[in-house]
Amino acid sequence: MSTTNSVLDPKTSPSFPIAAKVTLGDTQLRKNVRHATEVIQNKRARVVGEMPDWQQLRESGKQIREHAMANLDYYLEEFERNCTRAGGVVHWARDGEEAKRIVTELVKTHASPQNPEVIKIKSMTTEEIHLNLALEAAGIKAYETDLAELIIQLGHDQPSHIVVPALHKNRQQIREIFQREMNLPELGEKPQDLADAARRFLREKFLRVNTAVSGANFLIAETGGVCIVESEGNGRMCLTLPETLITVAGIDKILPRYQDLEVVLQLLPRSATGERMNPYNSLWTGVRPGDGPKNFHVVLMDNARTAVLADGEGRQTLNCIRCAACQNACPVYRQTGGHAYGSVYAGPIGAILTPQLQQLHHAQTLPYASSLCGACYEVCPVKINIPEVLIHLRNKVVKQNGPLNPEALAMKAAGAIFKSERRFRAAQRLGRIAETPLVGKDGWIGWLPGMLGGWTQVRDLREMPKETFREWWEKRGKRGN
Ligand code: SF4
Repeated sequence: MSTTNSVLDPKTSPSFPIAAKVTLGDTQLRKNVRHATEVIQNKRARVVGEMPDWQQLRESGKQIREHAMANLDYYLEEFERNCTRAGGVVHWARDGEEAKRIVTELVKTHASPQNPEVIKIKSMTTEEIHLNLALEAAGIKAYETDLAELIIQLGHDQPSHIVVPALHKNRQQIREIFQREMNLPELGEKPQDLADAARRFLREKFLRVNTAVSGANFLIAETGGVCIVESEGNGRMCLTLPETLITVAGIDKILPRYQDLEVVLQLLPRSATGERMNPYNSLWTGVRPGDGPKNFHVVLMDNARTAVLADGEGRQTLNCIRCAACQNACPVYRQTGGHAYGSVYAGPIGAILTPQLQQLHHAQTLPYASSLCGACYEVCPVKINIPEVLIHLRNKVVKQNGPLNPEALAMKAAGAIFKSERRFRAAQRLGRIAETPLVGKDGWIGWLPGMLGGWTQVRDLREMPKETFREWWEKRGKRGN
């Protein structure tokens, strides 16, 4: 049941410029992504507009997340104590490999030995570590139960959005997948038909499979509880019906107090899907006889998050509550879709998170996958200054590539020119002379040589003005008018 095709992994995926070229050529995908992001953005704007205290809420969200990250060690230990007291078992995983090993062992212990299977509720953390492939390698079948994740799994595809993983598919494409994979040649194409087919397909699994794997939206230190929000009720089924529940969460998911939910549960649904609140908000704390799973395990995974925390400028990335508002607002994501990012985290958050979670050289084109327009910062419900982190990471990339790489040399030269007015004027004069053979009759340059060609591959360049403002001003001054 798990996909066996290639996964979105920065170590093996093509770089962003190469992958983006492919997706830019897919007009259907671009149409689907544009339509879906527009619908979500409009809904978000409407419900955010209803909140007179939205900016104060954003500020509170930011403060809560910053405080949690600044005291992460303290709150993680508090979570462990309270979770254990309530009957949960906490496991610590340094990286994805360790997390996968722990989950696989737990499933082998608890699932049916003849036919080991798990039902899953959407989890970006398990996507991040490619858990399904590890389970499959261990002979364990994993069934995604979130509708969009199910579409991705049955379509042998990869997620392209944090909140709506199948956003790049339209209704006809989903119908084709269901017809083929569920053997339903007569299936209609109304949303109701598709939802009914998915419901029938999944219901049997909810009732049969005795082990579930979930992610977590939040971990609450004060109570040792876990929170998941979702829209379809599949999560509620996974969290309550099976005998064993295994939750995999990044250590950054911690919230200090139960009361903090008041803020984040207002910010998240509005920013994510334009809903005032999520239809299903599940909170569970340990185990209780006769109520829900008998065994509860939490795998707290670092996977480079403490390294991000140690970076003074990059650490604000960990404040993210994975709402994807930045993705929907990003003009680059809206054109390329998610797969071009070569990582399960796409869009602006992917452009800053992936290079920090991975070794930078595997994702060094991602900090450049942005126009730095600031739309992401404007919509982020916890005020992460994504453009600031992008520039910080670009600096790191330039430094990592050594002092002799073309970008570093170009920046050095630009720095030397901008430092001196004389050099700046000389460069302007030289630029005018150098561009002359390239300027077309219409005053535009359609082609530049060498590395500069990257600019004109996708846009034209206006010729430099015959006279700068400074030159005009000086002349005007001499004439006295
Ligand atoms: S960076 Fe901000 S806007 Fe983007 S997913 Fe995270 S919380 Fe949402």
